[in-house]
Amino acid sequence: MKDLGFDTKAIRTGYRTTTEQEHSEAIFLTSSFVFDSAEQAANRFSKKESGNIYARFTNPTVGAFEKKLAAIESAQACVATSSGMAAIFATIMALLKSGDHIVASRNMFGTSIVLLNTIIAKFNVGISFVDLSNLSAWESAVKNNTKLFLLETPSNPLGEVVDIAALSKISKANHVLLAVDNAILGPALQNPIALGADIVIHSATKYIDGQGRCLAGAVVGSADIIEQVHGFVRTTGPSLSAFNAWIVLKGLDTLSLRMKAHSDNALKLAIWLETQNQVEKVYYLGLSSHPDYNLAKFQQSGFGGIVSFEVKGGKESAFKIINATNILSITANLGDTKSTITHPATTTHGGLTDEERLNAHITDGLIRISVGLEDIKDIIADIKQTLV
Ligand SMILES: *Cc1c(COP(=O)(O)O)cnc(C)c1O
Repeated sequence: MKDLGFDTKAIRTGYRTTTEQEHSEAIFLTSSFVFDSAEQAANRFSKKESGNIYARFTNPTVGAFEKKLAAIESAQACVATSSGMAAIFATIMALLKSGDHIVASRNMFGTSIVLLNTIIAKFNVGISFVDLSNLSAWESAVKNNTKLFLLETPSNPLGEVVDIAALSKISKANHVLLAVDNAILGPALQNPIALGADIVIHSATKYIDGQGRCLAGAVVGSADIIEQVHGFVRTTGPSLSAFNAWIVLKGLDTLSLRMKAHSDNALKLAIWLETQNQVEKVYYLGLSSHPDYNLAKFQQSGFGGIVSFEVKGGKESAFKIINATNILSITANLGDTKSTITHPATTTHGGLTDEERLNAHITDGLIRISVGLEDIKDIIADIKQTLV
């Protein structure tokens, strides 16, 4: 069947019912698989016959998640990993070697920056950081040995955006792979592969699970690329567990509905925040006041659930507001049904120098909310009572 819609693929792809005729995907909690005969074992190991051998290599529940995710992104293949960080690490280690060079966006997820600067750098891989939206900066950062562009769009927490299609022209012209970390929007609101990216990396921990229950990650791309990443994962071990795969594969069933609801709630909150005296500035891509509004509207199918705002009075008043909320959870996680509130300057971006933080516009008065799926009137009322 061709031309199926996103939700049909998300709900229907990827699983072959067993002889028990179960309707919902089964969880195969098994580390290994048995063979009919010594001959079959030999054939599986020598790849003459396809099939399961050991859960570090393949598992039917994990396979169902991988097939669904590849299908909804219209990609050839997907490999699941134990977390989003494992997906980023596996991508780099599988596709690069000592002496290669990466160009990465400056305002990526903090742990991704730490991964590049402290672990990847040990393997003699050079790293240059550029401003996400600045296409000519990406182009001028390319060296003879550049193998990978790595970025997140939109950025967290301020929602800067890069034109993926334009950047993919630059990467292709320079024989560089373009990898997009899609955790902030998830596959329902942005399809980087359709825009020309070679690789999409997911932290399924965020919106794909969407309920704050487990860690999971995935890498999506061409069969050739994913074979290499899968080879790294099966040899080094960050494979996704069957149980967590089941959680995130059930998450895909409702993903696009949930993302619409997150986006609707976030827009209502952002519009309300803009009318508040104590609020200096609101950052939400769905507001026409956001500098990247038009580009986001073109390349995304929604604006997502992250709203940030700067309050008058700096850190003291930001802390007062955060501490005075009753419903919102004070946590740095995002992409949950529960709305969360955090102070980026002292948490997610606390490891940056003052200058780096200022360059990234992470001011002391900035507050980030990951807008959940509660009734938005209650979330607005909760924030309103903190602004008195
Ligand atoms: C959370 C996050 C990650 C890391 O994912 P884990 O599943 O926590 O390992 C990577 N990139 C972005 C953009 C994230 O938000």
